Amino acid sequence: MKIPFSPPYINDAVKNEVLDSLDSGWITTGPKVKLLEQQIAEQTKVPHVLCVNSWTSGAMLIFNWMGLGPEDEVIIPAYTYSATALAVIHSGAKPVLVDVGEDFNISLEAIEKAITPKTKVIMPVDIAGWPCDYDEINQLAERRKAVFNPSSEVQKKLGRILVISDAAHSIGATYKGKKTGLLTDITIFSLHAVKNVTTAEGGAICLNLPEPFKNDELYATLRCYSLNGQTKDAFSKSKAGSWRYDIIYPGLKINMPDVLAAIGVGQMQTYESEVLPRRVEIFEYYNRFFSNKHWAIAPPSKDEDKASSCHLYALRIKNATEAQRDAIIAYISTKDVAVNVHFQPLPLLTVFKTMGFNIADFPVAFDQYKNEISLPIYPQLSEIELNFIVETVSAAVEDVMA
Ligand SMILES: *Cc1c(COP(=O)(O)O)cnc(C)c1O
Repeated sequence: MKIPFSPPYINDAVKNEVLDSLDSGWITTGPKVKLLEQQIAEQTKVPHVLCVNSWTSGAMLIFNWMGLGPEDEVIIPAYTYSATALAVIHSGAKPVLVDVGEDFNISLEAIEKAITPKTKVIMPVDIAGWPCDYDEINQLAERRKAVFNPSSEVQKKLGRILVISDAAHSIGATYKGKKTGLLTDITIFSLHAVKNVTTAEGGAICLNLPEPFKNDELYATLRCYSLNGQTKDAFSKSKAGSWRYDIIYPGLKINMPDVLAAIGVGQMQTYESEVLPRRVEIFEYYNRFFSNKHWAIAPPSKDEDKASSCHLYALRIKNATEAQRDAIIAYISTKDVAVNVHFQPLPLLTVFKTMGFNIADFPVAFDQYKNEISLPIYPQLSEIELNFIVETVSAAVEDVMA
């Protein structure tokens, strides 16, 4: 039985929206992007949502707007996908890596220790769709106001560290009754092909800044900035007699095209009602099976404050070494079941090693990684396939760990 890791969910609604865009005579940024922004605004309850062409470019846009430079520091977890750190590097600022906790998410204590007067942003990551401790993190940014040392107009206006949620995995997750998007100053979703909601490539930025910022004005500024800093987008300029424009910012070119937004528009129609509940069901299926296995450590999915978006099922094998985990994956692969590891902590990767990061400084991140295996989780999986996956994983673990 061949089971892929994470195929996109493409139903008739998605196909119809894409065809509609292709037939409309307008395929780049226009009405489909607007519609997707509205759907995400409704889903998150954040009124102002800006779609761009990736999570990464969205983060760079925000860092750019904040005026980050080489003296500025951005605190991120060591346990994440590389884009979290690369966006910081591309903005010219310095990524400050900190360790995580046993739920895979950034450690509050580690953030607290890493804050300096140069800290401009804390960017927690909701690993696997599990929300971070946002009340505590937001309070920390507030509490450290006195040591905050702004180096741009935007930073001065905010007067404290900005909290950005890397919610690449967590669209639809909840924290204390609120959806992700509404939990921090800025939230960025990834709409990449393997994420819970996709536009093939894309990102969505939720703007939730406090007074005196005006999120509607900020939306207009960032929309313009994402389109070369041009006063008129191509859609408005395409109307007869509407040719003249100006360039008012040294902008980026990171807008989302309509033909891709159409995929997301189709996906959002069933995300909350069908896709997310099915992801939760699969997560619970795995939990039920693995709760009977003494060697299994199940990932977090629900407690009194949090509910995961079930983006990944990050199973850990008790007492497995890195080599044993790799052998378990090799065994599973011989049965044509595609599994993965999320993530290799950044200090294991060449670019970050070269920057001087050492995995020995991130012991929890390494412990979480060394025995982790991500299992397939998506709505198309049948009961027969799920049963095959858990039996295969079980056989692999019992074979390797015997
Ligand atoms: C996928 C991912 C990103 C990058 O998203 P893109 O849309 O591909 O730029 C960032 N952070 C995390 C945690 C991710 O998993």
